[in-house]
Amino acid sequence: MSDFSSMGLNEPIISAIKKLGFNEPTEVQKKSIPLLIDKPKDIVSLAQTGTGKTAAFGLPILHHIDMESKNTQALIIAPTRELCLQITSELKKYAVNFKRLNIVSVYGGSSIQEQAKSIKKGAQIIVATPGRMLDMIKRKYVNISKITFCVLDEADEMLNMGFYKDIKSILSNTPKSKKTWLFSATMPNEVSKIAEQFMKNPYKITVGEKNSSSINVSHKSFLVNNRNKYSSLKLFIDSCTEIYSIIFCRTRRETQKICEKLIEDGYSAGALHGDLSQNQRDLVMKSFRIKQIKILVATDVASRGIDVENITHIIHYKIPDEVEIYNHRSGRTGRASNKGMSVLFVTSSDKRKIKSIENKLKIKIKSSDLPSKNEVFENQIKAYFEKIRKTPINADIEPFLSTINQDLSIISREDLIAKITSLEFERKLNALKQDDVNKSDKKTVRDLRYQINLGTKDYYNWQNLKDFLTEICSLNPGDIYNVDVQKTKSFFNSKPEHKDLIFNVFNKFEIDERPIRVNITNKRGQKDESSSYHKERSFRKGKRKKSKRSKRNF
Ligand code: ADP
Ligand code: MG
Repeated sequence: MSDFSSMGLNEPIISAIKKLGFNEPTEVQKKSIPLLIDKPKDIVSLAQTGTGKTAAFGLPILHHIDMESKNTQALIIAPTRELCLQITSELKKYAVNFKRLNIVSVYGGSSIQEQAKSIKKGAQIIVATPGRMLDMIKRKYVNISKITFCVLDEADEMLNMGFYKDIKSILSNTPKSKKTWLFSATMPNEVSKIAEQFMKNPYKITVGEKNSSSINVSHKSFLVNNRNKYSSLKLFIDSCTEIYSIIFCRTRRETQKICEKLIEDGYSAGALHGDLSQNQRDLVMKSFRIKQIKILVATDVASRGIDVENITHIIHYKIPDEVEIYNHRSGRTGRASNKGMSVLFVTSSDKRKIKSIENKLKIKIKSSDLPSKNEVFENQIKAYFEKIRKTPINADIEPFLSTINQDLSIISREDLIAKITSLEFERKLNALKQDDVNKSDKKTVRDLRYQINLGTKDYYNWQNLKDFLTEICSLNPGDIYNVDVQKTKSFFNSKPEHKDLIFNVFNKFEIDERPIRVNITNKRGQKDESSSYHKERSFRKGKRKKSKRSKRNF
C-alpha cells in the first residue's frame, strides 16, 4: 500500500498514480494533500521547482470534483503557456480513471474560439494563463462564478511577470466561498501581499530550504570584462583556502571549454553537460561526490536535481536570466548549518539583473574586488607553511629522518625553505609570470589551432574526436582542447610543443583509404578562412570518386 492511500484520496486516483510509479508522496505532497482533502481551506505552499507541487494541488482537486456536474469547479492559473500545458497533461495522467472529466487549458497565441468551444462542452477544470483567462471572462466564454478552488501556481513568477492586476481582476469574478491555493517557489513581498489580500487565514506550508536563498549563503559579485573573466575566475579560486564548488556556465560549449582550461591550468575540475553520455556524467558525478574532483563545471540543465553536501562555493560564471535559476543554483551551498558563498562574475551590462536578483530574493550581493595575484600567491605560500607548522609528526617517520638530516645538513634553513617553496609553487609561479607576459605582449605564447578533415558527417562530436586524437597521438586528454566539430571538418587546439608529433601522426594517415590531414589554421572564431575553405573544397572534390566505399566505416 502506498502512503497516498492513507491520505484519504479516492481509489481511482490512487490506482492512477500507482501506475505512474508514484510510490511515495513527496514532502510538499505529504504536507499539503491531507489538509486539502480533509478540511479544505486556503493554503500558501512554498516549495522549490521539481518537488511535485502539481500533484500536491492536483490530487485534492480531482478528489473533490463532482464528475456528474459540468460546471467549472476549479481554476488553475499559471504564468506561461508551457506550464498550462504541462499542468494539464499531468492532471490528465492522474485522472485517467475519470471518464467524465474535462480539463481544458486556456492560453494566448492559440484560437480563443476553439478554447471557448472546449469549455462550452463542460470543463470542470480550467488551467489558464492570466491574460487569456481575463479575456475569456470579458467575452463571457467562461463562468467561474461557481468554482470551489482557485490555484495560483508559480505565484512568484506570475507576479514577476506583472500579472498582479490580471489576477486581482480574475479573482473578483470568483465566489467568496472558494478556496484559494497558492503555490510558489519563493515568497517575495508581492506574494505575501496577495496572500494577505485574497486569502483567509491560510494554512502555511514550507518545504526544504524554501524561499529567499538560505541565510547561510553570502553573495558576492566581481565586476570583470569578458577578456579577463577566466583569469579572474582562476584568481578567485586561488584566493580560497578551501574550495569544493560548482561553476555554472550557460552553454554546453562554454562549460566544456572552461573545464578544459581549468584542467590544463592544473585545477581538479570535471565537466557536466548534455553532450556527455550518461556514463561519462555518472563518472564525473561520482568523482565529484568523493571529492576527487573539487570543481564541477556544469550547465543548469545537466546539474538539475544534483544534491551534494558541503559545497563551499557556487560560482556563476554567467549570471542567469531568471532569478529562480539563481536561487536554485545558490541553494546548493549553505545546506544544513554550513556556511556557503554564491559568487557572480559579472560585466557592466549585468547590473540590472543583479538588482533584480537582490530585490526579488531580498538579498544583498556585495560587489567586491579581487585580490592581486601577488597577494593570492603570498597567502597560498603562507597557508602552505601554516599547514606544515600544524602537521603532527608521525612517529613512523623517525627511522628515516637521520639520513635525511645528514644529507640536508649542508643546506641552510633559509635555502631549504626557498627550495621547498620553489618546488611546491613552481607551476603557479610560472602561470603568474605567463599571465604577465600575456598582458604586456599578447602575441608571445599562443596555442596552435589545427584543422582536420573529419566532422559530424563522420559521426564525430567534440568528445569522441578529442578521444580519437589523444589516443592516436598518445597525448593526455588535457593536451587537446577547444575542439569544435563542424560538418566536414573540425578544429582543435594544442600546445606548440606537440606540433611535430601531431604532424608525424597525420603525415600519411588514412581511414579506409581516405587520407586524414591536419593543418594549422588561424581560425579562432566560427567563420572559415578562405584559404582553408579552398583546401577543403579541393579535398572534397578529390574524395568524391571513392567516397562510396570509404564513408561507411565512420
Ligand atoms: P513542481 O511543480 O514542484 O515543479 P512537478 O509537479 O512538475 O513539480 O513534478 C515534478 C516531477 O515529479 C513530475 O515529473 C512529476 O510527475 C513527478 N512526481 C510528482 N510527485 C511524485 C511522486 N510522489 N513520486 C514520483 N514522482 C513524482
Ligand atoms: Mg509546478
